[in-house]
Amino acid sequence: MVNMISTDLRNQLEQFVPAENIKLQEPMSSHTSFRTGGEADVFVLAENGEQLSGLIPYLHEKDYPFFLLGFGSNLLVSDHGYHGIMIKLSGELDRIRVEGERIIAGAAASLARVARVACEHGLTGFEFASGIPGSVGGGIVMNAGAYDGEMSQIVEWVRVMDLAGRSFRLENPQMEFGYRTSIVKKQPLIVLETAFKLQPGQREQIAAYMEELASRRRQKQPLEYPSAGSTFKRPEGYFAGKLIMDAGLKGYQIGGAQVSEKHCGFVINTGQATSTHVYQLIEHVRMQVKSKYDVELEPEVILLGDF
Ligand SMILES: Cc1cc2nc3c(=O)[nH]c(=O)nc-3n(C[C@H](O)[C@H](O)[C@H](O)COP(=O)(O)OP(=O)(O)OC[C@H]3O[C@@H](n4cnc5c(N)ncnc54)[C@H](O)[C@@H]3O)c2cc1C
Repeated sequence: MVNMISTDLRNQLEQFVPAENIKLQEPMSSHTSFRTGGEADVFVLAENGEQLSGLIPYLHEKDYPFFLLGFGSNLLVSDHGYHGIMIKLSGELDRIRVEGERIIAGAAASLARVARVACEHGLTGFEFASGIPGSVGGGIVMNAGAYDGEMSQIVEWVRVMDLAGRSFRLENPQMEFGYRTSIVKKQPLIVLETAFKLQPGQREQIAAYMEELASRRRQKQPLEYPSAGSTFKRPEGYFAGKLIMDAGLKGYQIGGAQVSEKHCGFVINTGQATSTHVYQLIEHVRMQVKSKYDVELEPEVILLGDF
């Protein structure tokens, strides 16, 4: 639908964002860590809250579908593309500032950069997230976590925007953080910025711990291939990777998508995978694990579009 009217729509969107921030038929394989996926009908870069506060209510009123993209590191977009407006944050929303023991980071900032800034300022508590290849916005939505840490432990508040374009602060308990989830997964809110409350620490120790975690990742995870990290959530009482390995699926391949031989919890793109291959492999793994162990594997990866 949006496809047919996208040139017209483009003119409308120029009321809210500069013309050079709007692209048509943008390949999502350039914006996802799986390196797969068809085109988004319209792709918009929003640089600040003001642009968003015009854009979002407009799209909502017109009933145009839209999707907030972080770094696409937990996202599988259909090969048929996304028929709507893909919004990526940038500009002012990429800023990071330090206020004492607090770091206030825009949703478009990378978790890796926040971790570096924390280290430079001798602030500890963010190390666990230094190797998660997502944005602050995506990290908050997913309550991203690793090595016994997760966003919920260090978030003080999050500034969000609703569909009416109003922005307001949600304090940590209002974020309804859970395992790989938060209120932003359940309600149509946009993360604008987040305050992380950290602790004073020793720069050398922080840097050394980040390096140790990076090295553990390199050893255990197939970082040399495109993926979206752990494909499945951890089922209660089990480890997804172990179940998949025990089901005999290590290295199992559909088209260019493969159950990683290094870490069975990762589906990887060996080079020529399409999103359909990845999707079919996910479904195959789920079926096998269900029939062998009666465990339902739930994808952690977000599926977008028609599969
Ligand atoms: C190699 C590798 C390792 C990984 N390791 C980990 C790990 O250790 N722990 C972990 O938790 N995850 C891990 N991940 C998964 C992923 O990096 C995280 O889930 C990350 O938080 C996703 O952030 P993103 O910016 O890429 O979000 P995206 O994948 O772009 O989006 C994820 C969801 O967030 C929403 N979203 C993004 N930004 C906003 C915003 N500003 N406002 C509203 N909604 C928004 C999107 O609409 C989507 O629903 C890994 C991925 C890879 C590829």
